[in-house]
Amino acid sequence: MTEFELIRRYFAAARCAQPRKDIALGLGDDCALLMPRPGEQLAISTDTLTAGVHFPEVCDGFLLGQRALAVSASDLAAMGAAPLGFTLALTLPDVDPGWLERFAQGLDHMAAACGLALIGGDTTRGPLSLTLTVFGSVPHMQALTRSGAQPGNLLCVGGAPGEAGGALPFVLGQRQERGAYVDTLVARYWSPAPQFELGLALRGRATAALDISDGLLADCGHIAAASNVKLIIENERLPVSPALAALFEPEQIRSLAMSAGDDYLLAFTLPAQYLKSLQADFPQVGVIGRVASGQGVQVQDAIGRDVTPLRGGYQHFAMKP
Ligand code: ADP
Ligand code: MG
Repeated sequence: MTEFELIRRYFAAARCAQPRKDIALGLGDDCALLMPRPGEQLAISTDTLTAGVHFPEVCDGFLLGQRALAVSASDLAAMGAAPLGFTLALTLPDVDPGWLERFAQGLDHMAAACGLALIGGDTTRGPLSLTLTVFGSVPHMQALTRSGAQPGNLLCVGGAPGEAGGALPFVLGQRQERGAYVDTLVARYWSPAPQFELGLALRGRATAALDISDGLLADCGHIAAASNVKLIIENERLPVSPALAALFEPEQIRSLAMSAGDDYLLAFTLPAQYLKSLQADFPQVGVIGRVASGQGVQVQDAIGRDVTPLRGGYQHFAMKP
């Protein structure tokens, strides 16, 4: 199969690559053409996923296609951008038609769920790797950056963090249990749902936002640094995933919620006056702490003691003296 046949069969033919009225020119020419509406800015983000680093070497094409796009699309959601399109740069060790078919289907499935059109890409031979670039639009000055958090804001999260991290021992075959809770975790890992609707609802309300890809603590650190404030996470307020509660010890759950990445939930800072109306539409939104003046991220226990885990202390929650 030539490169062009491959592109035509698996990508140009996909539902997500068909012409769409908000895409001026899609896949097939030297460039795609986007035409954001007047007064809108283009939001752009790129992510690379490499086999053996970001996903297991041997994996199902459908699941990988879904996950790769969800991971990238989540950055648009975190910015409060509405989805437009994406490009796919694909490096393949060889052409395996069955795998490619499933990969394209997984990609197409997530593209439909996110409302993203496939507008171009590149196809090369080499170790399996994917680079996706996503494009979205957001009204001028309304994007949710990391830099606007203000002391006094609430710190919120769009669900219970840690599930994707909890899925890893099952995904990697280190734990063998089966059942509905395991399925929940594994689904969170392989098909995270970018929180587009929440991101749109945060426009004009949240002062800073991002999606949790590196772990709650690390990502809150990014908001703290960009906004030059301190984020306080109150340990006892962290929402606990029922699936994690069923499969892990309390200390492991806390560690997963704080430090494991890959959940792609939004974390954001919010003036308290917006909380009630936001939770009316998004009951999964939880308040986990607050913004204070200062720097960095501090974790506090129920009586306000500093229980911030030591740096790199995954699963090692040491009390500071
Ligand atoms: P060029 O040589 O001009 O860069 P290519 O031969 O690489 O063009 O690609 C031809 C067309 O197919 C382009 O429109 C490109 O965007 C698209 N394309 C190539 N690879 C992919 C892919 N993996 N997924 C989607 N579109 C692709
Ligand atoms: Mg090319």
